[in-house]
Amino acid sequence: MLRDTLKRMHTELNDVVHYTLDIHGADHKMNDYIGKKIKIEWSGVVICQCGKKSDKFYRSGYCYKCFWESPLASQSIFKPELCTAHLGIEERDLEWEKEFQLAPHYVYLANSSGIKVGITRGSQGVDKMDGSRGKPSNITS
Ligand SMILES: [Zn+2]
Repeated sequence: MLRDTLKRMHTELNDVVHYTLDIHGADHKMNDYIGKKIKIEWSGVVICQCGKKSDKFYRSGYCYKCFWESPLASQSIFKPELCTAHLGIEERDLEWEKEFQLAPHYVYLANSSGIKVGITRGSQGVDKMDGSRGKPSNITS
């Protein structure tokens, strides 16, 4: 059995998306587990990116304070089409948002539990969103 704090998986788009999970510094290729039986247990604790431990968490594992204050948890992180950094309008931290959000993005189609439209930053893994929400407007090339 392996134990570690579950982190976001690294993704790489090739012919299909390849997911890699870091457990104690060792990369585990999650695609190799497709069709195999694995068990993941949650200890009941969430560790926010600020280091705070909690049994409560908000959107993607942030503590209450970071959920409301961190630019990493702003609405444009989860809905890039709502970003206003290209207009010079701050959401939480304009300089950070300009650096992070005003970057090449990719729009893609995925077939997982159904057909979905996704958008991802070129420097980040693949995020998915429902096709009904998928109307990105801040894509640069
Ligand atoms: Zn926090």
